[in-house]
Amino acid sequence: MRIRSVFDYGEMRREFENSGIDTKFIPIIWKHLFLFLKEQDSDSEEEWDWQKRVPSLPSSAYSLLLSNFNNNPNPNPLSSSLHSVFHSSDLLTSKLLIKLHNGDFVEAVIMRYDTRLGKYGGKPRPGGLRATLCISSQVGCKMGCNFCATGSMGFKTNLSSGEIVEQLVHASAFAQIRNVVFMGMGEPLNNYSAVVESIRVMTTSPFLLSSKRITLSTVGIIHAIKKLHNDLPGVNLAVSLHAPLQDIRCQIMPAARAFPLHKLMDSLQEYQRNSLQKILIEYIMLDGVNDEEQHAHQLGKLLDRFQVVVNLIPFNPIGTLSQFKPTSEHKVSTFQKILRGTYNIRTTVRKQMGQDISGACGQLVVSNNSPGNTMNPLTDIEDLVI
Ligand code: SF4
Repeated sequence: MRIRSVFDYGEMRREFENSGIDTKFIPIIWKHLFLFLKEQDSDSEEEWDWQKRVPSLPSSAYSLLLSNFNNNPNPNPLSSSLHSVFHSSDLLTSKLLIKLHNGDFVEAVIMRYDTRLGKYGGKPRPGGLRATLCISSQVGCKMGCNFCATGSMGFKTNLSSGEIVEQLVHASAFAQIRNVVFMGMGEPLNNYSAVVESIRVMTTSPFLLSSKRITLSTVGIIHAIKKLHNDLPGVNLAVSLHAPLQDIRCQIMPAARAFPLHKLMDSLQEYQRNSLQKILIEYIMLDGVNDEEQHAHQLGKLLDRFQVVVNLIPFNPIGTLSQFKPTSEHKVSTFQKILRGTYNIRTTVRKQMGQDISGACGQLVVSNNSPGNTMNPLTDIEDLVI
């Protein structure tokens, strides 16, 4: 039987239309399934029953769901399953290892924040506890960034839009997810149509995430950036710049050869002109490679014409997978001071935490048993770009 996700809107719509069933039932099906999965007992052995769990559908819809979307009827019909969950010792971070129908694994990471611990205008930030989900868009990645564990896996496959949405479905059983960042495994703009469709699903019922609370992170796929605002207005863009010069970018990110820095910056300017949104610039700090004072000045000048927030990311060593070393705290702080003081660029430093489970944020490599390192944003990404 072909395995398809009920959260794959394109597949569902096609099947419903071919069978003459009104597509208005699709979000209703999602709602019942989503609510059931949020509350289901993980040890339940009861087989999924469409008629019992999703009442009041036309009978032809039940036949269709049963024949085409009933992947794992015991205990639910999702196309993926939750293989295991690791919680950090401070319980702020949870890593979900999700098994796809073809046997591959992807990781999704939940990061919990208390906004009241942050300051805004000198006062505690409004809000309260909230959770951000870092999700994967591919198994492995073909971009091959030299500092990244995922890149060392090579590329295996694209996720379908339903498989991307199912990461949110699985995570919602553990936390009320308010923000989603595409910073897990893969380059999301290399799986463009599935990512766009998944975000459209996430912003409709029953998920109803705000597009302002979804962030796409890319190494800079220029042709995709050009259409992004049109396809996903309101969604935030994060660019893994990592160097202010083309030759350093190429040295640490081989894919940068295909996307010259000046053309990338032009596409970002066009994006910002159209979207009027701030861009998050991610900059991994690699000792002796891109972390000198001259690099801070070059970066400041490069970003002069943009509304950006720079997020400096202390490198998380990935054992024998990389030749790089982390930048010292002192150098990170000097780099930050130059960007802030000389160029008036809002610049934050991502804090490493939760080092007792395997990681996130472009540093994921699938392993279904090993503890490792996790890098989490100190500040919720939403606080940076809004
Ligand atoms: S940093 Fe991102 S784009 Fe680069 S190899 Fe890793 S997952 Fe791919």
